[in-house]
Amino acid sequence: MKISDYFGENVFSKAVMRERLPKEVFDEICSVERDGGQISMSAADVVAKAMMEWAVERGATHYTHWFLPLTGVTAEKHDSFLTVPNEDGKVILKLTGKQLIMGEPDASSFPTGGLRATHYARGYTAWDITSPAFVKEMSCGTILCIPTVFISYTGEALDNKTPLLRSMEALSQQAIRMIRLFGDTKAKKVVPSVGAEQEYFIVDREKYLRRRDLIYTGRTLFGAPAPKGQELEDQYFGVIRERVGTFMADLNVELWKMGITATTQHNEVAPAQHESAPIYTTCNIAVDQNQLTMETMKRVAGRHGLVCLLHEKPFAGVNGSGKHNNWSISTDTGENLLDPGTTPNDNLQFLLVLSCIIKAVDRHADLLRMSTACVGNDQRLGADEAPPAIISIFLGTQLEDVVDQIVRDGTAATSIVGEQLDTGVSTLPLINKDAADRNRTSPFAFTGNKFEFRMVGSSDCIANSNTVLNTIVAEAFCEAADILEKSNDFTADANRLIADNLREHRRVIFSGNGYSPEWVEEAERRGLPNLPSMVSSIPSLTTEKAIDLFERFGVYTKAELESRSEIMYETYAKVTCIEAKTMIHMAKKHYIPAIVRYTARLADSVCKVRNACAEACTAVQEKLLKQTSAYLNEANEALTHLEACVDYSNSLDCIAEMANYCYDTIAPAMRALREPIDRLELTVDKDIWPVPTYGDLMFEV
Ligand code: ADP
Ligand code: MG
Repeated sequence: MKISDYFGENVFSKAVMRERLPKEVFDEICSVERDGGQISMSAADVVAKAMMEWAVERGATHYTHWFLPLTGVTAEKHDSFLTVPNEDGKVILKLTGKQLIMGEPDASSFPTGGLRATHYARGYTAWDITSPAFVKEMSCGTILCIPTVFISYTGEALDNKTPLLRSMEALSQQAIRMIRLFGDTKAKKVVPSVGAEQEYFIVDREKYLRRRDLIYTGRTLFGAPAPKGQELEDQYFGVIRERVGTFMADLNVELWKMGITATTQHNEVAPAQHESAPIYTTCNIAVDQNQLTMETMKRVAGRHGLVCLLHEKPFAGVNGSGKHNNWSISTDTGENLLDPGTTPNDNLQFLLVLSCIIKAVDRHADLLRMSTACVGNDQRLGADEAPPAIISIFLGTQLEDVVDQIVRDGTAATSIVGEQLDTGVSTLPLINKDAADRNRTSPFAFTGNKFEFRMVGSSDCIANSNTVLNTIVAEAFCEAADILEKSNDFTADANRLIADNLREHRRVIFSGNGYSPEWVEEAERRGLPNLPSMVSSIPSLTTEKAIDLFERFGVYTKAELESRSEIMYETYAKVTCIEAKTMIHMAKKHYIPAIVRYTARLADSVCKVRNACAEACTAVQEKLLKQTSAYLNEANEALTHLEACVDYSNSLDCIAEMANYCYDTIAPAMRALREPIDRLELTVDKDIWPVPTYGDLMFEV
């Protein structure tokens, strides 16, 4: 079958609606989606019926309001289409307009960060008409999923989608003001587009099941490096292993059926690491689709006897996984505001947009960094290939040169043009070089006609980063429009504003090696914030600057921000304690008993050899025995200390204090336990070692 025959077959798309809905209802849907407003209950009833009939034809038995609570994963509660049987025992299937538009799940078990006491359990889900409904084929049945927001009884957002949608509206309003200044009277809306490249690891399920750390925490908490890692650079873009290949093929089909344009697939840098990327789409749809992609990856991997690890750092010592959040903004008439054209120096609109984005990123670097904070990303940011925790912008030679001219002269007279590359082989084509090279170490890089935000963690929901990005840029646009709407000499004033923005915020532009230690020092000299951990970044959320920003653009209320900060601390503390307890469990039940067995084997050998032959040398066994016993002792002391730390953490009442204690004390105590055990892994007999090693996990798939 051709891809085009089944692509999107599980999506209640515009095309399906056009075909199945009366024209006036279809028009009403389109108008609400485009311009906002309320859909009438009569239209909702018609849509609900058509949606249900379509889903039932596709095998659906249930529907769900599908939403993004603050757990970072998606939530769904299935309700069947069944109604009370009639006298003959027959049922009719039903989905009403009211059921489509609104739901009322018991919200008390979702994180709320103190927004709502448990005994006030009411929460509402409400249909997000801008993201299409779809059916999901699962082992428990085929389910009609209706994307919704999730809010509390008092109207506060309890999810990741509501603020995202608010931020998109804020950005659109301010961006429209900007393009009106340049004479665009046609566009009604400006929409951010996002393409999220998703990195992941694949391991064998049987091996995975033998490691409690992978099961409970998604990452290895112990493990010595394998003799081979990623140093040969032979994995990146390498030939995809057969078993992983069948998984990828299957995954693609599943994603395509749900209308997700999975398009790029390849091996990533670390052994057993891979990537899948879709074609970019509207920001909130991209967010939903990325959540769905992660979920589908896990499900499909299981079918192949594999497990997909989405953790940011499943293995120490090799690259971790992230998500490159490619972001651009376009009008509804199709103009990408981040397209510089061939001579950006005289593209006034582009320069103004660019200078506003640079201003926004510099001013709110702390918020952007915070938006990528999740527990797993603490292991990754700053390590190996990953971007450092310092926000900086890479523009490339062409734009950086334009910026420098403007900073110096007020305007830019020229743009560097891309040259042609000659390979020296007459039969090969001449290559038109891009005007700028790439920089893989930059956390926020301009790549042609979009920015690529590379700090986001692989398991994280991309809604948060995009919410921050949209809002901070909306603010900068708003400030520019406030000035320029009053201008009598538009070109001169626009040029002045661009130069002012760039002069003030030039410090955030950096094109060198972001992974070098010198950059950390240089960034400090420039006054750029460096928030190396999740706990250190959480306070950014509730600064006066952040509260003013988010309240002004209607994205978060102060209460919502405080609740999110609370949830972040709580999550950090809980996950760290789970990790610590997993280590304690593994040390006690797996490692220490195995090592004790090994020492007995060595002792046995010493005695037996001596008995058999008094002159035989037992130096090797004795040396190993002494060394093993010493490490064993070290491990045991570290274990006792870690247990005491975990106990102490439970006595702390303040959640922020607990999170900080986890970071300052428990995390180092975990490392102290890991060290002697990893060293022992290198000497203890393979047949005694209780869990699969890094080599087993990464190379035997
Ligand atoms: P790479 O970063 O590996 O060079 P690409 O540049 O091809 O890869 O694109 C990576 C992702 O960026 C893809 O999901 C792609 O669809 C998306 N993308 C491309 N152009 C844009 C754009 N204008 N806005 C947002 N995302 C985009
Ligand atoms: Mg990329």
